Amino acid sequence: MISPAAPWLRHGDSAWRFLLRRKPLASGRKVHFSKFAEKVVMLVRGISLASTMSHYLIEQIEKTSNIEVWPHTSVIAVHGESRLSEITIQCSPSGKTKELPATSLFIFIGAQPRTEWLGDLIQRDDRGFILSGPDLLIGGKKPQSWTLDRDPGLLETNVPGIFVVGDVRHGSVKRVASGVGEGAVVVQFIHQYLAKVQ
Ligand SMILES: Cc1cc2nc3c(=O)[nH]c(=O)nc-3n(C[C@H](O)[C@H](O)[C@H](O)COP(=O)(O)OP(=O)(O)OC[C@H]3O[C@@H](n4cnc5c(N)ncnc54)[C@H](O)[C@@H]3O)c2cc1C
Repeated sequence: MISPAAPWLRHGDSAWRFLLRRKPLASGRKVHFSKFAEKVVMLVRGISLASTMSHYLIEQIEKTSNIEVWPHTSVIAVHGESRLSEITIQCSPSGKTKELPATSLFIFIGAQPRTEWLGDLIQRDDRGFILSGPDLLIGGKKPQSWTLDRDPGLLETNVPGIFVVGDVRHGSVKRVASGVGEGAVVVQFIHQYLAKVQ
């Protein structure tokens, strides 16, 4: 996702790039941005990166001279006509606001699964990600809705024959290659399931 953005991050552009983060980013992403911008500023709402990021990643950021980390800072407004020209930031302890020139604002705030429509039919975790396979077994016990002698299979939900793959699956690695891999594997499981019920 980073590389497609890079061409319009022009070298020597005087404006700063802002990264708004909630979750830890791979260190490579921040360093990647820093190669294309005069300055990259990470805005962190909390006190520091230390609570959510590994020490070695923080060290890598500190070693990159054009990356700055601003704690206690939120973006509260963005400005511009045809494209971004300024952002308004707010310091959380003082409440003071400041407007800064900016041509880019990258927001990394996680993802929310849109699974409400499944209702009670398919079991989900408290964040809405769909449970499957061993994740459905609580204390070794099968889910109440499960009707078969066998345990739910890998990638199989609490309803026999309904499978889940990709980002929406609880515990999945949120990467394209993982989603594609799970998708390829699940086809085999579906064939196995159909062979038994037909
Ligand atoms: C900002 C960002 C950067 C990322 N960078 C990388 C990266 O560099 N490398 C990498 O490997 N991964 C990256 N990822 C993760 C990667 O995009 C995901 O892991 C991958 O797209 C997951 O694929 P998926 O098919 O499981 O889900 P998605 O790609 O989210 O596809 C799900 C699809 O289902 C559709 N849908 C949802 N609800 C319904 C419904 N009720 N009916 C019909 N359709 C529905 C959605 O519209 C969507 O098209 C990034 C993700 C984000 C958000």
